[in-house]
Amino acid sequence: MRYLVTGGAGFIGSHVCDALIQRGDSVVVLDDLSTGNKKNIEHLISHASFKLVQGSILDTSAVESAIKSVDHVLHFAAAVGVFTIVDKPLESLMTNIRGTENILEAAHMHGKEVLIASSSEVYGKNAGGALHEESDRIVGSPLKSRWSYSEAKAIDESMAYFFYQEKKLAVRLVRFFNTVGPRQVGHYGMVVPRFVSAALKNEPLTVYGTGSQSRCFCHVYDAVAGVLAVIDSNATLGEVFNIGNDEEITIENLAHEVIELTGSRSIIEKVLYEKAYAPGFEDMQRRVPDISKIKRVVGWTPKLSLDSIISNIATHLKA
Ligand code: UDP
Repeated sequence: MRYLVTGGAGFIGSHVCDALIQRGDSVVVLDDLSTGNKKNIEHLISHASFKLVQGSILDTSAVESAIKSVDHVLHFAAAVGVFTIVDKPLESLMTNIRGTENILEAAHMHGKEVLIASSSEVYGKNAGGALHEESDRIVGSPLKSRWSYSEAKAIDESMAYFFYQEKKLAVRLVRFFNTVGPRQVGHYGMVVPRFVSAALKNEPLTVYGTGSQSRCFCHVYDAVAGVLAVIDSNATLGEVFNIGNDEEITIENLAHEVIELTGSRSIIEKVLYEKAYAPGFEDMQRRVPDISKIKRVVGWTPKLSLDSIISNIATHLKA
């Protein structure tokens, strides 16, 4: 199969490219290298089945010519990280809404299958327990950047779903919950690479808010296996799937765990949300995926524990 991976030079996208090339598929990457990094795919550039097109998903002619050359589109290009969303809310909205619209239009015009990478951010601040695909979205004002990001991802999902329903476009949707692993960088806000790199330098780990908020971290290798399981199945057409690990930890305990596993002398510092992000910033208190649907439909479950994830990231950051 020939795949177009938008955002293929990014963190998750580049690991998807690795997995596709490894199993013998051909890959075209469309990436504007804004938050993506050529280094992530450097080892693939000379491969006969791999091609990098440097361009934006906002450029309709670049999108169309890339889509024409493949069978299946995996749409990973998006504004990335809470810092980016808070700093550049308008640009983030345009990328996430217009970009996805361009992908869907072109895929429809040329009759290609599409996977849209969405996010657990669509559930907003619903902290009511494990979130399943039908759980309600609970979001704050659309004038707050975090919720406008959630809105954008939700609009992407709706657009994709109604392209499937009304226009018979072969669409699949996945919602990633906190995905971590090698190649993820801390400067867009993600907590695990920030904590691990601080711990390795014996610098303070900055816990935002009380630290009682919790998350579940899934290794990108597991997440990519989930993506492949979804795209390889016909039972997933027109469906949305959570992809995440359901091992929950508070951010304060994550900080302790990182310090212990890396043998660091770092201390933990508490930082107010408004200092870390912006005044009025709202966080999710809890975010846990219900992954029973993807397990039932395609048999996928994550394999890597949080401890092995932290150790693996520390090994890669040291290297
Ligand atoms: N966080 C933190 N210190 C950091 C970066 C993030 O305490 O240096 C917190 C953040 O406020 C949130 C959690 O860690 O409660 C996860 O943040 P991340 O940006 O990784 O993911 P998301 O908020 O999208 O779940």
